Amino acid sequence: MLWLLLVVIVPTVCVLWFMLAAIDNERVAVRQRLITAYRTQLAGVKRELAAWLQQEAARLDARAANLSCASLFAEVVRGDEADSLICRGGEPEAEYPRQSRMPPVPLKSETSAWDRASRLERKGSFVDAAVVFSRIAEGDADVDRAARALQAQARCLNKAGRREAAVQVLSEKLASPGFRAAVDPQGRLIAPNAQLLALQLIADTDNEQFRLAAGTLRERLVDYGEPVMAATQRRFLMRQFQEIVPDAPSFDTLDAEDLAADYFDSESIPATAAALTHAGPGELWQLVSPGGRVVALHRESRLHRRLTRVIDATDLPPEMSAELLRPGLDPDPALLFVSFAADEPLPGWRVALQLDEQALVDAATRRQVAVYLWTGLLVIAVIVAATGLIARAIRRQMRSTRIKNDLLATVSHELKTPLASMRLLVDTLLDGDNLDAPHVREYLELISKENNRLSRLVDNFLSFSRMERNKQQFQREELDAAAVIRSVTSAMGERFNGPGCRVDVEIAPGLPKTYADSDALVTAILNLLDNAYKYSGADKQIALSAFAADGDVCFAVRDNGIGLTGRAKGKVFERFYQVDRNLSRKESGCGLGLSIVQFIVRAHGGSVDVESRPGEGSTFTVRLPAAGPGISAGATSAQQEVAG
Ligand code: ADP
Repeated sequence: MLWLLLVVIVPTVCVLWFMLAAIDNERVAVRQRLITAYRTQLAGVKRELAAWLQQEAARLDARAANLSCASLFAEVVRGDEADSLICRGGEPEAEYPRQSRMPPVPLKSETSAWDRASRLERKGSFVDAAVVFSRIAEGDADVDRAARALQAQARCLNKAGRREAAVQVLSEKLASPGFRAAVDPQGRLIAPNAQLLALQLIADTDNEQFRLAAGTLRERLVDYGEPVMAATQRRFLMRQFQEIVPDAPSFDTLDAEDLAADYFDSESIPATAAALTHAGPGELWQLVSPGGRVVALHRESRLHRRLTRVIDATDLPPEMSAELLRPGLDPDPALLFVSFAADEPLPGWRVALQLDEQALVDAATRRQVAVYLWTGLLVIAVIVAATGLIARAIRRQMRSTRIKNDLLATVSHELKTPLASMRLLVDTLLDGDNLDAPHVREYLELISKENNRLSRLVDNFLSFSRMERNKQQFQREELDAAAVIRSVTSAMGERFNGPGCRVDVEIAPGLPKTYADSDALVTAILNLLDNAYKYSGADKQIALSAFAADGDVCFAVRDNGIGLTGRAKGKVFERFYQVDRNLSRKESGCGLGLSIVQFIVRAHGGSVDVESRPGEGSTFTVRLPAAGPGISAGATSAQQEVAG
């Protein structure tokens, strides 16, 4: 058995190992195929990104040719195309935002009136000075100087304590369209500065005049048209405005202005045209147009978002989703499938395919894995089945060897006793010349009894042997239960005729017939009667009955003998089983009688059972299926009494 187990386990383990190795290899091969396929797709994504960047850069140049730098700045930032932008126009003034300061506006010669007004202001005659400045503003044809005169008038009025008059000059006179382009010597637009000053003087946010001035200033600050406000002035005014009018919505370009200012302040890395390069400050990237006129600035996170939009728009197979990995960002190794550097258009970035590799490979290998699995399982099943068959054959062989040995031992032992007693009796008869007739008869009766015992034993051995070899043939015919009982009683002969033995026979009227081999059935019932006789005490009360129950014809043998325990009841039909071997020896038994009964009854499609209690006797009942509804003619209840 241990060998058999090894014969199963070793090949099964080998098959399993081969199977798992084959599955692993299949997975590796499929993964490799998928990687190759997806690499091609990712290269396509990389090309798309490069094309998009080039196109964006070229578009910037084209737009710069048609738009002023400031307008381009506002358009790009507001359209979320970049986070900021630096545009270099044909002339230095056209730049936006400007890196260097504005070239100072050449001072125009002041008139004598201006000198007088300045002297009056220095002396503290603010009202007079304001009057002179007002006159200058009215009479001067130069817009810049007139605007500056109005600024000075407002300043003097304020110093003189005439705040309202000053506000009026600032928010009304200076707000007129004529002064829209007026600049101070530093190149700053005068009107917006005047608006801010007016707001600071009014200081009351609920004031109608304040609201009007605030509206005008805000409009000017978000306006990137001509005349263009210098970026430094715009940023300063936007900040001031937000402080004075905190409830106002924030400016959508202020962040971009700040970013451009930071870019100028930092040592930015020189950019290559039409390529995305790291810009230096923080996580800032710059894309320079081919003509070199425009630099679009992108914050890394937002650039990632913009590029992701490009990837999303590319035509990829539905199960695939490409991702762009920002520099220094490690992908989730559990999800990463393929990734490679997007060097040329995006230095430091990686184009990656992140997906649940397990699920993908599982799906691709499912069929092949199933084939391996089923083949492996089939081989294992064949091994197990073959081993099972071999084991069964071996078990059968072992059983039949054991039975043969048991039979041989039992036969030799059981034959020895009656043969020995017969030889003794015969020797006594031969030697006893003076034996009288009654003694001779007694010895002969004893010899006959031993002979009978021997015959029964040999009969049982033969039946058993046929049974074991499946050679038992049954000649089945329709049988009348009463006829069977009659055959049994006649076969009982004189054996049950001894003293202290009474056999009652009862046949129920109208019994159906049964379909059985008469001799076999008689042998079975005789075996039961034999046991009833053997395992009963000195006063033997045996009852043999035939009756019908549940469509069966039943033959029952009841005795008042030693009975059986519950455990013994379950085992008495096993071959060679004997409850008490000593008792059986005395009474000539070899543990085969009941197994022969059971074999015969089962071969007829019936059953045999026992009801018994120790010391209270036993009832063995044989049940055979009835042959048909016919009632045997002339069946009568009969009772034969063999009284001792
Ligand atoms: P044996 O040849 O030993 O009688 P059987 O197969 O006929 O073999 O019976 C098996 C055992 O069952 C017997 O040894 C006996 O111990 C027990 N047995 C059978 N019939 C009876 C009975 N009527 N009363 C008590 N014990 C019985």
